[in-house]
Amino acid sequence: MIEVRDLTKHYATAAGLRSLLPGRRGEVTRAVEGVSFTIGAGEVLGLVGESGSGKSTTGRLLVGLETPTAGSVSIDGTDSATARARDRKAFHRQVQMIFQDPYGALNPQHTVEDLVGRPLLYQGVRDRAAIATSVRTVLAEVGLSPPESYLSKHPHQLSGGQRQRVCIARAIILEPRFLVADEPVSMLDVSIKWEIVRLLKRLASDRGIAMLYITHDLATVGAVCDRLAIMYRGRIVETGPVEEVLAAPSDPYTCALIAAIPSADPDVIRVPPPAFVQAAG
Ligand code: ADP
Ligand code: MG
Repeated sequence: MIEVRDLTKHYATAAGLRSLLPGRRGEVTRAVEGVSFTIGAGEVLGLVGESGSGKSTTGRLLVGLETPTAGSVSIDGTDSATARARDRKAFHRQVQMIFQDPYGALNPQHTVEDLVGRPLLYQGVRDRAAIATSVRTVLAEVGLSPPESYLSKHPHQLSGGQRQRVCIARAIILEPRFLVADEPVSMLDVSIKWEIVRLLKRLASDRGIAMLYITHDLATVGAVCDRLAIMYRGRIVETGPVEEVLAAPSDPYTCALIAAIPSADPDVIRVPPPAFVQAAG
């Protein structure tokens, strides 16, 4: 249902003043170069690559935070640039994003109830009772139970994991078809990581959400992703079912990524414990 075709994003680099001289064209960063993939409803595609490989740019292009230099994204057969131009509110009901830093993503002055209910207000929902009910429902769904004990809290009164749950609640309250999660657990403690990863997996399957799960390390992909796309310097160098890519990577860069995990951080659990795989599946 999400179809990305030849997606490309070039940024003009600030190559000193040279780029301002007549006849000199500025240099270009090829952040994303001809990326294509599809994600079905309820499916999680992992987009994995080292820092600077173009993952976040891809994510931002998909949710309309950036305009592609070339290529297209379609959602349920409709070109997303067209859909967004025609009805921005409707587009943002369909497509949501979760970020790495849940603290930075939440206005510290607002309560959990405000933060999670706000997207409905933006969408023009005026029925306060209906908003209150929806907020309680999604809070329970993301594991903030009982919801009543979180409603009047502010972000600084929550743990990192709870804050990310608030961000997830806010993202799903509009019942999106497509969710981009950009390094959603990179800033969380290892024990919390697995809970959040399982939550994302469950939401994708239960709600039939197509999800792009972006990460720079392969530690959590086994527990959340159905398929992987390995990104290197703006291009997808390998795709396949998650077990196949991890067990028998065909691209040298993927091999290097897998080999790099233990040396990069000896404390990182490389593959999820079996119990987590079962619970997530
Ligand atoms: P990743 O998320 O994989 O770490 P990014 O998508 O953030 O990678 O960045 C890919 C490349 O594009 C990097 O070289 C980065 O410096 C460059 N880039 C990202 N955003 C911008 C921007 N707004 N302006 C210029 N260059 C950018
Ligand atoms: Mg990034």
